[in-house]
Amino acid sequence: MFSLAKADEILKINAINFDNSDNIIFLTSTTKVMYINVKSMKLSNPDRISFDIDNAILTTPNSSWTFKNSVIKQVKLSQFTTNPNVVRMVITYNKNFNVNKLKLYRIDNNLVFVYDKKLFPQNNLRSIYNDEKSSVNYYEYTQITEDEKKSDTKEQSSNLVKSPEAIEIQKAFNAKGQLVRQQQPEINISNQKSEKLKSNFHVNRIDVKRGNALIRGIGSISVESPFIVTNPTRFVFDMPNTYVAPEIRNKEYVLSEKETIKIGQFEPTKARVVVTSEDAEKFRPIYSYDSQSIFLAHDERLLGMKLFDKTSAIYTYSAKKIDNTKDVLQFVFTEPVVHSIKKFSNRVELNLYNSSGFNHDAYKKNLNSEVLSKLRTEQLSPSGIKVIIPIKKTTELNYQESFDNKQLKLTVYTPKEEEINQSKPSPAVITRNPNVKTIVIDAGHGGSDVGATREGYYEKDITLDIAQRLEKILKKKGFNILMTRDNDVYVSLQDRVKYTEDNKGDLFVSIHVNSSVTPEGNGLETHYYTPQSYDFAQIVHKEFVSAINSKDRGLFKSKFYVINHTTCPSILVETGFISNPEERKELLTSARKQKTAEAIAKGILKYLGKD
Ligand SMILES: [Zn+2]
Repeated sequence: MFSLAKADEILKINAINFDNSDNIIFLTSTTKVMYINVKSMKLSNPDRISFDIDNAILTTPNSSWTFKNSVIKQVKLSQFTTNPNVVRMVITYNKNFNVNKLKLYRIDNNLVFVYDKKLFPQNNLRSIYNDEKSSVNYYEYTQITEDEKKSDTKEQSSNLVKSPEAIEIQKAFNAKGQLVRQQQPEINISNQKSEKLKSNFHVNRIDVKRGNALIRGIGSISVESPFIVTNPTRFVFDMPNTYVAPEIRNKEYVLSEKETIKIGQFEPTKARVVVTSEDAEKFRPIYSYDSQSIFLAHDERLLGMKLFDKTSAIYTYSAKKIDNTKDVLQFVFTEPVVHSIKKFSNRVELNLYNSSGFNHDAYKKNLNSEVLSKLRTEQLSPSGIKVIIPIKKTTELNYQESFDNKQLKLTVYTPKEEEINQSKPSPAVITRNPNVKTIVIDAGHGGSDVGATREGYYEKDITLDIAQRLEKILKKKGFNILMTRDNDVYVSLQDRVKYTEDNKGDLFVSIHVNSSVTPEGNGLETHYYTPQSYDFAQIVHKEFVSAINSKDRGLFKSKFYVINHTTCPSILVETGFISNPEERKELLTSARKQKTAEAIAKGILKYLGKD
C-alpha cells in the first residue's frame, strides 16, 4: 500500500488557537499533520458537536473557551480517553449554527476547523483593499475568553449519537506531498500563548492558468495597495493578516517564458505577492465569490476565461458625500459578485465581472456626491461592468465587502489641498527640527545587487558616488553623517533600516537611479511614505528639480522598504534614468552627480531652516 500516512504515530496536540474571527479553530500539533482519523457526533441539549481525534494526545491541560457575540458559544478541548488515546473537541453552538458548514482541513502542523463565513451578519462589511496599512481587525466584535473551570474529561459519552450530517472530513484529508519533518520557522499559528491568531487568511495553493495565477486559501482575504517596482519590473502587493503555507513559500511559479509569481511570508502576519513581468501594470487581483481566492489576472489573458457561473444584477446603488473629503459608493447585488479594484493616478476602476443591467444615468440625479456623480461605466466582456471613477493623485481608497459578497462599499478620501497646505508648514517657516545632528545617507544597492544597469554601467556605482559627495557637503556643515555603505558592498534593506534606528538617525536620504523598459523615460522623482517625511520630501524635491535640468516627475507616496520602516523623516530620491541614453550620459558625469548632491544638501538645510 502506498502511504505517507503514519497512522500509528501519535499526534501530539499542544495548542488551540482561534483566528480574529470566530470562524477558524486551529489545533496545533508538534509535527506535521499527515493522516488522522476524526469522528464527529452531533449532540443536543445544549446543541453541540464533538470531534474525536484518534491516536492523539493533548500535551496541554484540558481547556474551555467561551465566545461572545458569536454563533459558537463554547469550545472545549480535552483528553477524552488515554487507552486508546483520543482527544475530543466539543463545539457548543447557538441555533443559527449549521454543522454542515463546518469543514476540516490540515495545514502544516494544524488541524483546522473552518466555519462558513456566510454566517456572519449580512450587513457587516470587511475591508479587502486599503491604501493605508491595515491595522484594524474587522472581527473584533467576537470576544473569546478562557473559562475558569476546566472541562470535564468524560462527558456524557452515553448519549452520543452518530451524526448523519457527518462532515466531509476524509475529503479534506487527501494527503499529498512528502512528510516534512523539520520544524518550520514558526509564525503565530503555533504560538501557544495567544488564543487568537493574528492571521485571517491562510494561503496554501497557487495554480497557474493561461499566464494568470490563482492564489487559494481559507479565511478572509485582504490586500494592501499594489505597487510596481523596476529592475526587473514587478507587480507587488501585500496581504495583511495572512499566513503562507511553508511548502509554497518563496516558490517560483512560472506564468510564461519570462514571467513568474512568488508568495512569501514578508512579515510574521503579512504575505507579499510578487509578479515579475514586463507587463506588471496589466495585472490586477480579482476576488472570487467567496473571497477564498484571488485570481491574479493579466488584462489581456482574461479573454474567454470563465470567472463565474452565475450573473448578478445590481439591486441598489448609492453614492453619498460624507463630508468635504469623503465620498462613499455602495452597491447591493442579487448574487455574490466577482470583482476587482484597480487604482490609477487619475481614476479607480471597479470591475464587476458577473454583473449586468446597470444604468448609471438613471441613478445619476439621485447621487448626493460630486466626486461620484462623475463616474461612468463601460461594458466588460462577456457580461460585466467596468465602473470608472475619476480621482485625484492624493485620493485614498478603502474598499469593503460584506460577508455574503453581495455588498460592496468603496470609500474615496481626497484630502483638500488647503488642508495639506495648512497642516504642512510652508518651507519658509520650518525651524522645527533645529536639533537634527545625525543624517543617514543610503547609497542604493551595492555589491552583488548592482541595481539598474545599462551598457555596462551600474546604478550602485552612481548612487555611491552621489552619496559620498553629499556626505562631504553635509560634513562641512557640521552634521554627523552616517553612511549605510561607503564602498561596494551588499547591505540588505533590513540592515539599512536597523543601522539607521540603532544609530538614532534624525534624517534618512536614500539615493537611487531609475530605469524604465523603454528608453524614452527620464526625469526626477522623490518618494516618501510616512507622514513625518512629507515636508522633508517636498522641500528636497523642490530644490532638486530646480537644480537639475530634467523632467519633474513628481513627489510620490511610495511604500519602499527603507522609507517605510525608518522612524525619522525619510526620503528616497530617484536621481534620473539610466535607461534613457541621454540621461545616462549625464548621470555618469561628475557635474551632474555634484549638482545632485548639492541640491539634496540644499533641500536638507532648507528643511532644517538652516539655509
Ligand atoms: Zn534603485
